[in-house]
Amino acid sequence: MIRLASIVESSNDAIIGNTLAGIIHSWNSGAEEIYGYSISEVKGHSISMLAVPERPNEIPQILANITAGIGIDNYETVHLRKDGKHINVALTISPIKDTQNNVIGVSTIARDISDRKQVEQSLEQLRHQHQLILDSAGEGICVIDIFSKISFVNPAAAKMTGYGIKELVNNDWNFIIYGDQTNNKTNRISTEKNSQACAVNTTLEKGIVCQVTDELFGRRDGTFFPVEYVSTPILEQGKITGAVVTFKDITERLAVEQMKDEFISVVSHELRTPLASIHGALGLLKSGLLNQAPTRGRRMLDIAVANSDRLVRLVNDILDLERLHSHQVTMVKQTCNVSELMIQAASEMQPIAEKIGVSLSVTPIDTKLWGCADRLIQTLTNLLSNAIKYSSTGKTVWLTASKQRINKNQVNNSHHLTCGIQGDCAVAPACGINYGDQVLIMVKDQGRGIPADKIESIFGRFQQVDASDSRQKGGTGLGLAICRSIVQQHEGQIWAESTLGKGSTFFVALPILD
Ligand code: ADP
Repeated sequence: MIRLASIVESSNDAIIGNTLAGIIHSWNSGAEEIYGYSISEVKGHSISMLAVPERPNEIPQILANITAGIGIDNYETVHLRKDGKHINVALTISPIKDTQNNVIGVSTIARDISDRKQVEQSLEQLRHQHQLILDSAGEGICVIDIFSKISFVNPAAAKMTGYGIKELVNNDWNFIIYGDQTNNKTNRISTEKNSQACAVNTTLEKGIVCQVTDELFGRRDGTFFPVEYVSTPILEQGKITGAVVTFKDITERLAVEQMKDEFISVVSHELRTPLASIHGALGLLKSGLLNQAPTRGRRMLDIAVANSDRLVRLVNDILDLERLHSHQVTMVKQTCNVSELMIQAASEMQPIAEKIGVSLSVTPIDTKLWGCADRLIQTLTNLLSNAIKYSSTGKTVWLTASKQRINKNQVNNSHHLTCGIQGDCAVAPACGINYGDQVLIMVKDQGRGIPADKIESIFGRFQQVDASDSRQKGGTGLGLAICRSIVQQHEGQIWAESTLGKGSTFFVALPILD
């Protein structure tokens, strides 16, 4: 009995004895340590003094259970210390019975689990933080075990591949690399990229980091998308237990790179052609071969001058377009009167129209818009210059405008060609058509017209209906691309309609202020 008492006394746990009514009668040194009360401070008091105010029914409920002979094992709760601090405790509560097996009291063993709870809480916080990072990461993240099975994927990986997270987990890694072969959705030859797929295998086998820049991953729908990925080994106590694969969809980057390559090759071609002419003409003149043929010599000089003019125009237009696209051009926007823009553009083009024998008819409209006057005049002169250029002597070019509230019935097919959306006009808002009040400026000619299959492409860089247009008409093929860029930076739209042999109309729709 003495030994038992000494065990109780030396225990680190609190060992408390109380009556069925909850009155404390025994209190060991462990209880003093955990709760901060000495025996004299608690003896004769209710065990409820240890309850936190947020849990008023807990102790009465426990006492009721014990009275009914039901013990409680390892029940985790929060108790109140003498100093008012809350402590996490695990309770084992048993009935004390007399020789006739009647419940006559309660024994409570309380273990302070505050440290453990704190560790658990920190771990939970850390887990939550990791989860947040993985969930919000833009890159796809896959964890692969040593048997090439996917053990984890983040939402970005699932989104990119089109699978649900559950569909990917426990599947083979090749599921992503080669797509779902079971549905026979893919016609990809698996040997084609075998060496690439091996990058993950290499990581799993040799524990080295592998970087792959031109892989294709499969989607749920059987299509593939280009990725670059890094596979990093997971090492536990020096042993390879799996790999983490981080990947990103590089479709957009490849498209930009392709556009850039195409642009550079077109630009270099466009610049080389006039340079070659200048070089040839100057070479002939320098050789002295034309000394005795002044007319041919003069023609060579004319060719050199015309081509150097073209080079200057080309370089200016290329730089202008690039600056517009990269928003390096500061557009000084202010309230502009549309009639003034129209009159100014027409008067700049009047001499050229007269030279060709084309009459220019202008019907200005009095309305205001918020824009950069210089750039809008540049757009109108460009359209007028084309209209005049592609008209023959005796024809008329009209510059007119009307105010209108664009609604879906007015969005015509040409507009859809321009924005790339086919079918019902109700889809127009998707392409940014502004449904407010607009001014629709029209440049109409009776020229040669534009074939239907070119009506949209002519707004692209270096796009001309006929390859001879640049030579014969002196154009660069950049004018309409510049116009579109300017109009778009005014939240407007530009498109064209045309009938071959009859003429074309170019439309510029811009939001107005009044
Ligand atoms: P360019 O400097 O060659 O005129 P643009 O970008 O202004 O370049 O025009 C692209 C092409 O669109 C022209 O080369 C021409 O083939 C065609 N085009 C533009 N406007 C007209 C028009 N009013 N009539 C016929 N074809 C036109």
